[in-house]
Amino acid sequence: MSQIPFNKPYLTGKEIDYIYQAVQSGKISGDGMFTKKCHGFFEKKYSFNKCLLTSSCTDALEMAAILLNIKPGDEVIMPSYTFVSTATAFVLRGANIIFCDSRTDHPGMDEDQIESLITERTKAIVPVHYGGVACDMDKIMDIAGRHGLYVVEDAAQCIESYYTGKDGIRKPLGSIGHMSAFSFHETKNIQSGEGGMLVVNDPQFAERAEIIREKGTNRSKFFRGEVDKYGWCDIGSSFLPSDIIAAFLYAQLENVEDIQRKRISIWNKYQELLLPFKDRFSLPVIPSYATNNAHMFYLVCNNLAERTEIIEHLKKNGISSVYHYLSLHKSPFYESKYHGEQLPETDRYTDCLFRLPMFYELTDADISRVVTTLISQ
Ligand SMILES: *Cc1c(COP(=O)(O)O)cnc(C)c1O
Repeated sequence: MSQIPFNKPYLTGKEIDYIYQAVQSGKISGDGMFTKKCHGFFEKKYSFNKCLLTSSCTDALEMAAILLNIKPGDEVIMPSYTFVSTATAFVLRGANIIFCDSRTDHPGMDEDQIESLITERTKAIVPVHYGGVACDMDKIMDIAGRHGLYVVEDAAQCIESYYTGKDGIRKPLGSIGHMSAFSFHETKNIQSGEGGMLVVNDPQFAERAEIIREKGTNRSKFFRGEVDKYGWCDIGSSFLPSDIIAAFLYAQLENVEDIQRKRISIWNKYQELLLPFKDRFSLPVIPSYATNNAHMFYLVCNNLAERTEIIEHLKKNGISSVYHYLSLHKSPFYESKYHGEQLPETDRYTDCLFRLPMFYELTDADISRVVTTLISQ
C-alpha cells in the first residue's frame, strides 16, 4: 500500500538554476538580484505599494508590531484559531492579545464580534484569512476606521486570493490592511522552505520598514545612493533573507498560475466527491466576497472522538490527514493571561476540523482513494 503524505513541497525544476545564478552573481546576502525580481513581481502583479521579503511570515508580523509602535499594555484583537506567530509577534512587544471567536460557518474570526472587544487600549486588529479565504474586509476596515485602529492582515496562506468589497472592486488579499504578512514556508502554496514577506500598503510605514528590516540602519537608502553613508537610525533586526532564498522563491513565483490551476482542480475534485456526504462532514464555505486559492481542503466533523477515529482510520490505510490549530486562548502559555469570554466556535474547530492531503502532485487516483477511505469509515 503506497502512502499518501499530507503535504509534499512542490518544485518547479528552476530553483537550482536560479540559485546557481545567484551564487555566480557574487552577491548572495539580502536584497540582491533575485530579491529585487521577487519584489518587482509582487508589486506588478498585485499592485502592492511596497514589498519586503523577510525570512518568514513570523518576521514580517514582528516587523509590523514594531512599525505600529506596540507597547506593553496595548491590546491587539485577533482570532484564537490561528498559528502561534500571529500572537507572539505582538506579545514580544508587550501586547495583550484579545482573542475573537471564529465564525459558525468558517474558522475565520467573527467580524461581528470585533467591535465589542475594542477598549481605549486597542491598537490593532489582525485578521487571519484562514485557508486563503478572505475575512469580510469591508466590515473590518470600517470598524478600524471608526476607532482609529490599524489592520495587519495575516495573509500567510493567501497568495493569489482576492476579496471583492461592496464597491465591486476585486482586491488581492494582503493589499487591504495597513500592512500584511505572507508566508513562503514549505507548507504554503508558493514556498522557499522558510520565507515570508511584509507588504506595506500605508506609505507612512514604508521608509521605517526598510530601516527596521536592516538592523535599524538606513543601509537600503545607502545602496540606492540616496545617502552617502549609512548608520544606526532606529531599533530593528535582521529580517531580510539571503538572495539564495529569493532565487528559489522566484522560480516558484514564475509558476504561480500553473501551481494554482493544479491546486484548484484538486480542491474542486475533493469538493465534488464529498458533496454527497455533506451531512456527515461540513465542507469548506467560501463567502461570496472571497475567492478560493486552494491552500487547504478541510472538513469539520461532529466531535473530537469522531475526528480521532477518522484520522486513525486514514492513517491505517496509508493516508496522512491532520488536525490544525489549538485554541490559543487555552494554550499553556496564554491560558492564565486570558481574561475574556469563552470561545465556543474556536474550541469546536480545535476539536473537529481536519485537513486532507493537498499538494501539487496529488493524482485523481489519490483523491479518489482518500475520499473512498474516508467515507468507508
Ligand atoms: C504559516 C503561517 C504563519 C507563519 O509563517 P512562517 O513563514 O512559518 O513564519 C503565520 N500565520 C499563519 C496563519 C500561517 O498559516
